Amino acid sequence: MLSELISIEPATGAVLWTGTTGDAGAAVANARRAWPTWAAMPLTSRIEAIRRYSNRIRGQADQLAELISRETGKPIWESRTEVESVVKKVDISVSAYAERTSQRQLPSQPNMRAALRHKPHGVLAVLGPYNFPAHLPNGHIVPALIAGNTVVFKPSEKTPAVGEFLVDAFAKSGLPAGVVNILQGGPEVGKALTANEDIDGVLFTGSAQTGIALNRQFAGRPDKILALEMGGNNPIIVWDTDDVHSAAVLVVQSAFLSAGQRCSAASRLIVKDELYDRVTKEVKRIADRLIIDEPFSKPAPFMGPVIDNEVADGLTESFLALMSNGGKPLKHMARPIDNRPFLTPGIIDVTNMAERPDIELFGPILQVIRVGDFEEAISEANNTRYGLSAALIGGTAQQYDQFWSNSRAGIVNWNKMTVGASSDAPFGGIGLSGNHRPSAFYAADYCAYPVVSMEAEQTRASIGIGLKDEDKAEA
Ligand code: NAD
Repeated sequence: MLSELISIEPATGAVLWTGTTGDAGAAVANARRAWPTWAAMPLTSRIEAIRRYSNRIRGQADQLAELISRETGKPIWESRTEVESVVKKVDISVSAYAERTSQRQLPSQPNMRAALRHKPHGVLAVLGPYNFPAHLPNGHIVPALIAGNTVVFKPSEKTPAVGEFLVDAFAKSGLPAGVVNILQGGPEVGKALTANEDIDGVLFTGSAQTGIALNRQFAGRPDKILALEMGGNNPIIVWDTDDVHSAAVLVVQSAFLSAGQRCSAASRLIVKDELYDRVTKEVKRIADRLIIDEPFSKPAPFMGPVIDNEVADGLTESFLALMSNGGKPLKHMARPIDNRPFLTPGIIDVTNMAERPDIELFGPILQVIRVGDFEEAISEANNTRYGLSAALIGGTAQQYDQFWSNSRAGIVNWNKMTVGASSDAPFGGIGLSGNHRPSAFYAADYCAYPVVSMEAEQTRASIGIGLKDEDKAEA
């Protein structure tokens, strides 16, 4: 049954977009019909069509950036970087396809050739999150199309307008009808899509909770590809450094860029005992200076609101729950405007909490843990079921080696933020952060499967051993 879907601008409360939820069965049927022709098209023709799409997005960069900012509340400067990533994704995915899944000759015997080639899975469902509503689904869709799959894309129900913009851009770039299909709706529509027998796999970016539900749903289905990019509870360690200010800047950027709504955001600051006062004071001082405002306001804000009032309420409650369970607030999280999801960064010392919740608080909350030695710091960093990103600020090269070796995460950085990963590299986590199918540069791997062929021009064969003489053979 179709129902109404409304997208509200978080910063202003204005209605941005209205529409209806879609029909999963119809979208999958369209994608299935389009698949044989798209898959059989020469790779160069598919790439040409997708390049027309990236050119079109480049031409409409301002419009898309504005739409992202209005629909998510993120500052316009940040949305522009998201659009850039969308455009660059095509070249990156073409290189990734060539490097990871191209066709090539393998060593073989005389009179034959052995070839490695890759084939698309078929119809893939792409489920997107709201925090990077263009870049992240695009990061599944583009490599899926290059490989020869057709796609049903369900954007987050919180960002349907950006989803529609992308699919519209594909259609207007001359991709054949049915190759990229939009399916609007929330979790119920997502469930109908993933339960459809005619999809060949699901490429998902979102919370661990949903990812685990999908993992269960597909437990008995080795025939379907399932790529899960999920959340984090990421640590940033601050160790010996002669530049406490830069360390604090890296902490603030890691924790509060995008109002903390990045899967790779630092949520736990682990700091050496002797540096605790200086580091926390400087982090607080910088956090106090951050401009939190509407996306287009001047001077430019560092961060905007979180996605909606419900999420802001949940984060406020989580901060209070940390306080009532033994956390000591260093900077209170405030809600400056009633009924708008703006939040000021909250910083809370949880060192003495008896039981710290190992959950992703997807917003501007930084928990601080004070430790005595470096082993304890690493063990605190790993004290999570997630494993997406981790950073060490300061420390020696030997300590970084130790941190790198013992860290359980897919991104391990030194004197750099936990966020801001390059699209030219694989991106994925371990534990509850992913299912060992990293995205970004390695997305090519889950968009196609290898087919190995031994091939000869002529039909020639003989059995050289284990045969009776012809005259002794029984009739
Ligand atoms: P979410 O899990 O609530 O939703 C993601 C998508 O799945 C949405 O399109 C939603 O409608 C759909 N969905 C929800 N329940 C479903 C179900 N049972 N069956 C099928 N589909 C369902 O995530 P979100 O709140 O939109 O996004 C934020 C989360 O995404 C955070 O946890 C963040 O860390 C994570 N994230 C991960 C990455 C990464 O690359 N690892 C990147 C960005 C965001």
